[in-house]
Amino acid sequence: MKNLRGMTYEDILQEVTALGAKPYRAEQIFTWIYKRGITGIDAMTDVSKVFRELLKEGFFIGAVDVAAVRRSPDGTVKLATRLEDGLLIESVLIPDADRLTLCVSSQAGCALGCKFCATGMNGFIRNLTLGELTGQVFAAQGLLEEGARITNAVMMGMGEPLLNYDNVIHFTGILTDARGFGLSHNKVTISTAGIIPGIERMAREAGVNLAVSINAATDEVRGRIMPVNNKYPLAGLVGALRAYPLTGRKVITIEYVLLKNVNDSTRDAEGLIKLLKGITCKINIIPLNPFPGARFSRPDDKAVEQFANILRNAGLTALVRFSKGADVQGACGQLAGECPSASHSAC
Ligand code: SF4
Repeated sequence: MKNLRGMTYEDILQEVTALGAKPYRAEQIFTWIYKRGITGIDAMTDVSKVFRELLKEGFFIGAVDVAAVRRSPDGTVKLATRLEDGLLIESVLIPDADRLTLCVSSQAGCALGCKFCATGMNGFIRNLTLGELTGQVFAAQGLLEEGARITNAVMMGMGEPLLNYDNVIHFTGILTDARGFGLSHNKVTISTAGIIPGIERMAREAGVNLAVSINAATDEVRGRIMPVNNKYPLAGLVGALRAYPLTGRKVITIEYVLLKNVNDSTRDAEGLIKLLKGITCKINIIPLNPFPGARFSRPDDKAVEQFANILRNAGLTALVRFSKGADVQGACGQLAGECPSASHSAC
């Protein structure tokens, strides 16, 4: 039996064609599944009963098992979903003035082991399937109040999205399909720790936003806090960013987790300015969100502002992101897959 909630439009088209149905059936089914969010095949009222019965012989609509929900007074909601094999993954709903952003996990655990990240401390378990990616949207939608809708999605939860490339790209396709979840391409972001081949593929294949977790201006510092830098050093990474095609008003988001006495000096800021020369970007500065077992500390607010101002004075757009949801361990770097007491990540 196959889960319709884990299938692309092309997958469904192939299946209905194999069942002898006309191609328009695929569009009907895809819309029922993702846009209307039905939970049973019988809800497809414009599909004949005979064909629904045929569908039920080979397909089902996977349910999501929300294992825990934690709500922060700032409106952030962290939810843990239990997968079929018992693993827990976490997603975070982040409300803002006119936005409701869903932060989605791409893997159970993460192999990259960034030293400032709770997810990275626990190692890699496995990639999430397409059904487990879309399942996070359905789980979050189930918590929304009447009339509310998710407006933005960021692949910044647990895991490195570009190491689960195919499922993540299919997922962003469903997110941005008007017959699917219907988000604008501009409202969907994939955040990577710097997997260069994945960035190069994204440049050719994906129409969504790119965010890169840089976190240091030299290989020496970056290699210490992000082991992935040993495989993909900064020169190659910024080369890939310079070559990255940007249309319209799109910019690359540079994430910079600020760690006290590690990467927060004037020299670090000046190095970053040099490094980012020629890249159309904005910089999100994220003062470390502490988590149990963290080996770094957060700089004080004055140091954070000073760092941001050096970048701004050089003409860069630098935003300080005092992350929401820290009190429910749902902020960047805090996701660890042990909700309700924990979790992420790619910042
Ligand atoms: S920051 Fe992202 S890439 Fe790094 S260990 Fe955490 S989840 Fe993995």
